[in-house]
Amino acid sequence: MLGIYIHFPYCVHKCFYCDFYSLEDFSTMNLFSDLLLKEIDIATHQFFPILQNVDTIYFGGGTPSLMNPAQLDKIINKIAKLYNISPDAEITLETNPGTIDQQFLKDFKYLGINRLSIGIQSFIDSELKFLQRIHSSQEAINTFNLARGIGFDNISIDLMYNLPVQSIGDMTYSISKAIELSPEHISAYSLIYEPDTPLQKAVKRGQIQPLDENIEANGFMNIIEQLTNAGYEQYEISNFAKDGKISRHNSKYWTYEPYIGFGPSAHSFLYPFRHWNIRSINKYIERLQNDILPIQGREEITFDEEIEENIMLGLRASGINIQELKDKYNVDILKILQQMYPQYNEYVQIDGKKARLTQRGYLLSDEIIIDIISKIKKQDIS
Ligand code: SF4
Repeated sequence: MLGIYIHFPYCVHKCFYCDFYSLEDFSTMNLFSDLLLKEIDIATHQFFPILQNVDTIYFGGGTPSLMNPAQLDKIINKIAKLYNISPDAEITLETNPGTIDQQFLKDFKYLGINRLSIGIQSFIDSELKFLQRIHSSQEAINTFNLARGIGFDNISIDLMYNLPVQSIGDMTYSISKAIELSPEHISAYSLIYEPDTPLQKAVKRGQIQPLDENIEANGFMNIIEQLTNAGYEQYEISNFAKDGKISRHNSKYWTYEPYIGFGPSAHSFLYPFRHWNIRSINKYIERLQNDILPIQGREEITFDEEIEENIMLGLRASGINIQELKDKYNVDILKILQQMYPQYNEYVQIDGKKARLTQRGYLLSDEIIIDIISKIKKQDIS
């Protein structure tokens, strides 16, 4: 079934490590909200001649909780007019502590938001300061408790590790604070030095020293252990859920299911095509004011890319279906693993019909995936 992603490109403050498309200037926000409805209309009629069933909607950004509930209402109504939304659809809103109050949370819940993803990142104030986040640890806890009190029963917390200012003990502390709150879902992302961000420039200038690789690796292993001991299942390299409350929307990205994205910089995957929107609010506005979709690029996925993506996404998430890979792409993943790593079960375990990474495998996932793909490319898999 189809997933819908809405990109809301505004934030109170631009964090110095962030490479998502987001703006601190809100002057275009009202116009954007109107044109977003137009984009949804035009794109839907262009891409889907028949009514589509939708089972996930994800409001991401940016900080979509800055949206006025009336704006959110209009978007949900527009989608409901053009799509068949399943009664049990997962409807997620990303929110940042310090941007939302009790009334907004109540309104969002009333409008149908049934899952919150809270960008907490850390429970240590000095780390939040380093990341240039606008909230404190206490505000993060307050936002979580407010949401729980209102009745949100599917909450995800985002945390970051591998910060240059962090010790393994600091990573453990934030994870244990998150576990204390008992969210249904925790995402733990390693800090990435994205090109051209102020963070990366500071590293280049020698003002910031990235964390030692061994500390990152040990920290990651600790995080997995802490979360699995607390009853969270690691169903993707950075994502952990309890009681089966995985992110159904994000899982679409990892299992090759279709999704359509609206808003500047949003990506869509409608097999075998992928397309992405312009990363500029002014061009986005200009295009839509002229009734033109703000699509910047479109590509057809080749057969080779499809194999590579299936392997990469499957291994990073909950595994690759061994037989399906053989039937569909003539790739014998077990044979490849046996040839490459005689002790492969240290990195990959066979879990029913699937080959999936072990905890150690997750740690070395990039190298393992590159090895497998280059082996397939060389076509010496027989
Ligand atoms: S709040 Fe999130 S989207 Fe906004 S600038 Fe910070 S990291 Fe980027």
